[in-house]
Amino acid sequence: MIVDDNFYDIIIVGTGAGGGTLARKLADSGKNILVLERGQYQVKESSELEDVEVFRTGQYHLDEQWYDNAGEPFTPQTNYAVGGNTKIWYGVLMRMRERDFTAVQHQDGVSPAWELQYSDFEPYYTEAESLYQVHGELGDDQTEPFHSKDYPFAAIAHEPNVQVVADILTQQGLHPTPLPLGLGDQGRTDSEDTGISPALKSGTITLKTNAQVFCLHTNESGTEVRAVQAKIDGQSYLFLGHLVVLSCGAMNSAALLLRSANEKHPNGIANGSGLVGRNLMKQLLSVVVQVTQATNSGQFPRTLGLNDFYWGNDDFPYPLGHVQNSGGIFQDVLFSESPPVLSGLARIFPGFGLRQLATRSLGWWLQTEDLPNEENRVRILNDKLRVEYQPNNVEAHDRLVYRWFDVLKQVDTAQPQIFNRGSTHPRSDMPLSVVAHQCGTCRFGSDPATSVLDLNCRTHEVDNLYVVDSSFFPSNTSVSPSLTVMANALRVGDHLLQRLQG
Ligand SMILES: Cc1cc2nc3c(=O)[nH]c(=O)nc-3n(C[C@H](O)[C@H](O)[C@H](O)COP(=O)(O)OP(=O)(O)OC[C@H]3O[C@@H](n4cnc5c(N)ncnc54)[C@H](O)[C@@H]3O)c2cc1C
Repeated sequence: MIVDDNFYDIIIVGTGAGGGTLARKLADSGKNILVLERGQYQVKESSELEDVEVFRTGQYHLDEQWYDNAGEPFTPQTNYAVGGNTKIWYGVLMRMRERDFTAVQHQDGVSPAWELQYSDFEPYYTEAESLYQVHGELGDDQTEPFHSKDYPFAAIAHEPNVQVVADILTQQGLHPTPLPLGLGDQGRTDSEDTGISPALKSGTITLKTNAQVFCLHTNESGTEVRAVQAKIDGQSYLFLGHLVVLSCGAMNSAALLLRSANEKHPNGIANGSGLVGRNLMKQLLSVVVQVTQATNSGQFPRTLGLNDFYWGNDDFPYPLGHVQNSGGIFQDVLFSESPPVLSGLARIFPGFGLRQLATRSLGWWLQTEDLPNEENRVRILNDKLRVEYQPNNVEAHDRLVYRWFDVLKQVDTAQPQIFNRGSTHPRSDMPLSVVAHQCGTCRFGSDPATSVLDLNCRTHEVDNLYVVDSSFFPSNTSVSPSLTVMANALRVGDHLLQRLQG
């Protein structure tokens, strides 16, 4: 084993939305910071150009397997690279709604309140939107929370067929709204281009890639992490630092804490509450496809969001969720992640090839909040990462899908020359392996008996250990999670700066 000579002020593990954003926040502090990332730099191309290949060939899928409730292996849809999952994402950067921070009654139970409110996050949402160059527009979406500043850049235009849908939705009395998108010179902004790469220019940050952290070692009393052990090119290294921040993604951070169990932390580091890995949430995600007579390029971004059913519907008083267009199907995961959609479409258009199917359809993603449940969890069994997850709030999600079918039928009828009156709308629900919106495995709160992290995202039990990825969510939301992960990393960054100065 090699012991690194340096003693770092901070060691950050992981460079995704949480870790990459935190590194950027701390870059000008003059502190000596080490960043350990198990992946490598991803091929340097515009992420827009990569999409088709990413998902059709599965080239960035892991050669790692996780295991389901029954012990069956599956390949998770997640990305190990500098920038983490933000290298393969869609750049939709939405704020959680104000009510998402409060206790909300859902059809299947209560989504618990956060102990911090929207107003605590608002300045950091603004900071994150500026950093990630969010293009958006404060329209008449009734669920949009207060913004102290407008979006830094104007929203981008819809693809023509999507614009037609937007117009018809408005005629139906709905409120389609431009999706906020992070966009820079290279296409979508991500935590490499916006986080790590600019942070490295400070000269006080060292990044080691291909560095998989596999154990945290505590001092004898178990109150501090003494060393971080990583494997780099097959060689084991020990790194020492004053503060350690995990940001491996909700499932991998929990797995690392559990795998690092020692005498003082027999159930995993910082796991006196038994909650590390529990309350895993990942949203209920479905795709619905609308076939069209008119063709489109198949390559355009997600631009349209709809939150009219976010908090319910006329005949259902509980939250349903969020709808957004998929983006051109050559730029989206639809076909590769949900082959049933492809076969559904192929039945409608027998004899069509992939290109024809893609250019003659629009896709829609439907997202519904799932509720925390201690039985939904990540755990390590026989050294394997096991994901035990049973979806809940399923009726609410189904109602969202059926409500959306009704909306699409009206759209098809209103413009039959563009859409396809009377056509069915193939639907596909995302399986366990789609873990894109994972969160909740180390929830934050002030009570060590019911949370893993305190409100600064420091573990209750280990004084110098923090977690800043999506693990900290005490409840989920129906919007996409990353802007909240980034805002939180900026918030925790302020706390760390104060702590290091104090
Ligand atoms: C296809 C796809 C599309 C998405 N689109 C959107 C979107 O449009 N909007 C949105 O808000 N969200 C989107 N998401 C979700 C978003 O990417 C995640 O919410 C976000 O990246 C989570 O950030 P994180 O920091 O928690 O983890 P990640 O971004 O997953 O980062 C974790 C990092 O830790 C590294 N790591 C893991 N284990 C170790 C270890 N043991 N040692 C060292 N390093 C380690 C990983 O390699 C990775 O770089 C999408 C996700 C996917 C997969």
